[in-house]
Order: sequence, then structure tokens, then C-alpha cells
Amino acid sequence: MKVRFWGTRGSIAKSSSEVLKYGGNTSCVEIRSEANDLIILDAGTGLHGLSHQLLQEKVQLRSASILISHTHWDHIQGLPFFAPFFFPNVEWHIYGPPTLSHDLKSILSGQMQKVYFPITQDIFNAQIKYHNLTEGEFSIGDIHVKTQYLNHPGVTMGYRITVDGHTIVYSTDHEPHDCRLAHGGHAHKNTEDGFHAQLLEGADYVIHDTQYLASEYEQRRGWGHSTMEYVVDLSHQADVKRLILFHHDPMRSDHEVDQIVDMSRERARNKAGKMEIWAASENQPLWVPPKIILPSAYHNKLVSQAIRPDERASSIIDELHQVKQNIICLGLQHYDQAINMSGHYSRCLNQFDRLDHASSDLSTSLIFIAPSALEAPEVINDLVKIQKQPPQIVLFCKADECTSPELSKQFPGLIRMVEPVSDIYLSSRIETWLRRQKKTRRWKRAQISSDETLRQREVNKVIGLMKTEAIKHRVNQLCHFFWQGMTLSSHGESAVAFNIITMSEQISLVNYPATVSSQSVSCSRDESICAHVIEQGSIIATSIFSPDGLLGNYAEYTGAEQSDMIRTYIGKPISLNGQVIATLCFFSKLDIVLTKNHKQLLSSAVKLIEDVLSSSRYI
Ligand SMILES: [Zn+2]
Ligand SMILES: [Zn+2]
Repeated sequence: MKVRFWGTRGSIAKSSSEVLKYGGNTSCVEIRSEANDLIILDAGTGLHGLSHQLLQEKVQLRSASILISHTHWDHIQGLPFFAPFFFPNVEWHIYGPPTLSHDLKSILSGQMQKVYFPITQDIFNAQIKYHNLTEGEFSIGDIHVKTQYLNHPGVTMGYRITVDGHTIVYSTDHEPHDCRLAHGGHAHKNTEDGFHAQLLEGADYVIHDTQYLASEYEQRRGWGHSTMEYVVDLSHQADVKRLILFHHDPMRSDHEVDQIVDMSRERARNKAGKMEIWAASENQPLWVPPKIILPSAYHNKLVSQAIRPDERASSIIDELHQVKQNIICLGLQHYDQAINMSGHYSRCLNQFDRLDHASSDLSTSLIFIAPSALEAPEVINDLVKIQKQPPQIVLFCKADECTSPELSKQFPGLIRMVEPVSDIYLSSRIETWLRRQKKTRRWKRAQISSDETLRQREVNKVIGLMKTEAIKHRVNQLCHFFWQGMTLSSHGESAVAFNIITMSEQISLVNYPATVSSQSVSCSRDESICAHVIEQGSIIATSIFSPDGLLGNYAEYTGAEQSDMIRTYIGKPISLNGQVIATLCFFSKLDIVLTKNHKQLLSSAVKLIEDVLSSSRYI
């Protein structure tokens, strides 16, 4: 793996004899895997140097991606000058978080409008694909990427990337959630800073915004940046192996950055940690041998199992854009402006309104509370009732009011915001909280249980039994009856299958009618919904498009293409000799509301098939 810093400054590029050591370009980091996957972290002015280097190189890249933390100028200004975009036959992927009103592509093309720049994006010859990100995970080749929101005025993403066995965290433009931690200290679990520590946990390399020192923080509070003290303490707490100070203040000379490095090392030494610390410099490429050398076959396997970026991210943002969310404020009228800026509705309650009524009248996404409101006992009671449901509770307080441990115990999901909070800051926080709430479950492969060998033995018996003409005929008949019963009450293209799950595959031993189900005769176990029925040992009934369903994220259901737009699925396990060996399932291209009758029909069909299979063991 190679890591090279092409831009290390924050805010604005700087040219001076005093910044020659660490460099004056704004954020841009190159990460190159052994297999030649290129990841560029941010596209500040440093991208220009990398652009030049890429043109000179003769190496064939396996993939080329740019991960944008956020779209402030100092992180995107290099894009219009990125020469590789002008070459045809190259595919570039740009990933990043969109804002509420604009997707990633339109934000990035905004800086190339005529008033700002002589050429527009249409002139690029390369194929450029844009990926709007929310929090989650995805793969680029065999590189794994996890995303998590940072704390900045503007939706900003932190990245945890695993390359060649090394973990690198890129976390820039982030301010401590709790301003007291700007002076250092321990971030408690279940707080937002504790969550940020999890992003860094055990990483081999953490590249972190350390624009300020604690002594400078008070004048710069709310600007969205970290202090060296916060980052050293949090990295120590998170067992980070190497910390790289980044996003240097443009006013900082090389000598001053050197001093900060010394101070941070001293701070880490006092904690008796082994963490190495240095400051990112444009002059120091870092070559790190891979932790493990994978045979190419394994590489290919990882690539084939790649997780696609969450295609639903764009629709989550669209939904939030189109459907305004309700935010209840209790004793916090002054945040109206920030809520309006975020494009959502606020409703301010007075002391006579009951919180639980108000929250169930409207579907509420967020509840903002002033600590003084908590003095009324009924407010606490209402909150206890409400917290089991979706609304996220946010408590706004002064730094010295935020310490009640009982409150944390009572409301573990509570978020604390230390006041004062600027409107722009709050509106971007609202955006990240809402996106988090809307996050859907992702497609997961069913697990293989520990007694799988026993189960497979029974599966093989059934395969044998089904070769007997009489048994096959009877099971066929039962499946046919079941299909007729199901389709009588649900019109449209539907099918029934008797599926067994082997170690690697789903095989349909019976299908009705063959025309609809021909695609499902066999699929891999990883793509099988029936494998989940086997894993759970109980009935699964799901509408594929339902956000809470098993296949909540249809776009990610790897079996989606093969299953030709199946929208409804119901499957029940079939057991033999105490082992779940198969499923009887019904699926349809229509959205069908599954009734009690459907489930009863399925249960009786399963019972009859089990009888046939178990009695025939004695034939
Ligand atoms: Zn920045
Ligand atoms: Zn920024």
C-alpha cells in the first residue's frame, strides 16, 4: 500500500517559504493498493500535483475512485483541473455526501458554472459515475470502506478504509461534539464523541483534522475543526497505532507545525501509549508492505463479494427533500430559524402541551429539549414513553449542565448539544440525524449454522427420496394444490417452489408454474431468501420493497436481477428428522398483502409434505 499526501492544508492554499516542509495545498491524499486500486481522498488544490503524476505514469489502474469528505472549497477545488477526466475510456467513481437540496454531481458541477470557470463538466471525456453516500459500508475492488458522519457545518463524511490488511481512517473537518473535549479528555461510550472514537478504533493510520490547539479553540468554536488535544486523547483512547496530523491551519509555519508535533508526542508519551505521531507532509510518500499477501484467486473472490454502495442513499435524500419532517421543540423557540434552514417543520410546545400527545399526533422525527423543561416530572414520563419509538431526542444545554449520569442511563439514545449552536451547524446536524434514521437494513447473506453437516445429511436423504417417482408425484401434487389455493385469492404472476438449500446453492425440486419460476430453479445460497428461512427455522413473509422487510434495500438484494422483480415472498421451513431441510415458498411479482388464510394454507401444505417425506423413510 502507498499513501501520499498531495495537499495537507485546511481552509485555503498557502504559498510561502515558511510552508515548504509540510506543503501549502489543500486536502488531497492518494492511497494505492498492491493491486493498483487508486483511492483519492478529497480533491483540494493538491489534486493538481497528483493529476500531473497520473499523466506521466504508464501503470494501468484497476480502479479509480475519489472519496469526497464534503464539498467545501478546500476539498473540491482541484477537480476542474484534474486532467485524467479529459481522457476517454477511463472510468472514475466519485463518492461523497450530498446536501439536502443538491446531489453530489450538481454540487460539483456548480463550481464549474460559467461565472466561476471557463469550461463545464460536459467537456470531460472520461466516464464519471457519481455515488451519493449516506452512512454505511461498500467495497471498491477488494478495498472495504465504512462511512460515518463527522461534526461540521455542512454534511461531512469520515471514511474508514481497509486496504491490503491495513486500516486507514480519514477524518477531516470535524469538531468535538462536546466542546469541553476540545481541551482533551475521555469520550464516554454512548455519546457522539464516543461514537467518533469507534470510527478510529484500533486503526493502523488515522489522518485527522488538527487545525487548532486547545488554547486557540474558544475564538474558533463552531468553525468545525478539531484541536490537537482532542485528537491525541481520542486516538489514544481508541488504541490508534499511528496518528497523522492533518488539515494544518494556513497561518501555521513549518516551525509551528513542528512544535505541534512535539507537543502531541509529549501528550501521548504522558499517557504511556505507543502511538506514533507525525504531521502530514507533501514531501513524504509512505510505502507500507501489505499485512497479508493474498493469492490472486482470493482477491478475485473478494471482488466478486463486493458490497455495492447503498443505491438507496439518493432516494433517502429525495424523500427528506420532498417530505418535510416534524421537529418538536420544548423550551427552545430560538432554533426555529435553523430548523427552517434545514427545510423541515418545527412545532414549539408550551408547558401545557403533553409531549407524548404532540409526538403521536404528528409523526415526529426529532425532539429538541431545553434542560429546564426536564424539571417537570410529566416531561420525563412522556419521554420514557416516546423513546421506544423512532423520534430522536436531543437535549440542548450549557456545558456545565450536561453531566447528569442518571439522564444518560434513562435515555441511552439521547444526544446532547452544548450551546450556543449556530444555525448553520444545527441545520447540518439535523440533516445527518434524519439521514441516520432513514437508513435501511441492507441485504445480508444467511449464516451457516454449526450443525450444518447434520442438516446436509437429511438434505441428501430428501434429494434421494425425490427420485422415487411416487414420492415426487405426491409432493408435486401438494405444491400444485398450494399454488392454486394461493393464486385463487391473489391474481397476477405468482409461483410456488419446494427448495432445498445445500452448502452453496438453492435448488428447486418442484416449481409451479414452470414459466414464472424457471429463473429460480437454482441460485447461490448467498442470494437465497429461503436460506434465511432455514437459518431462522420459522416463516418469513416479506414485501421486498418494504423498508423494514428482510430485503428492505431491494437495490442491494443480489438475487434481484435473477428473480425478475419478485415483490412478495412467503416461505416456511420443512423439517425432517428434527432438521430443517427445505422450504415451501410462494412468491409473486405483485405486492400482495399476506393474510392469515395464506399462512394457514402454507402451514397445512408444509405439514402434508412433511408427512409424505417422513412416512416414506420407512418405504
Ligand atoms: Zn476543510
Ligand atoms: Zn469544511
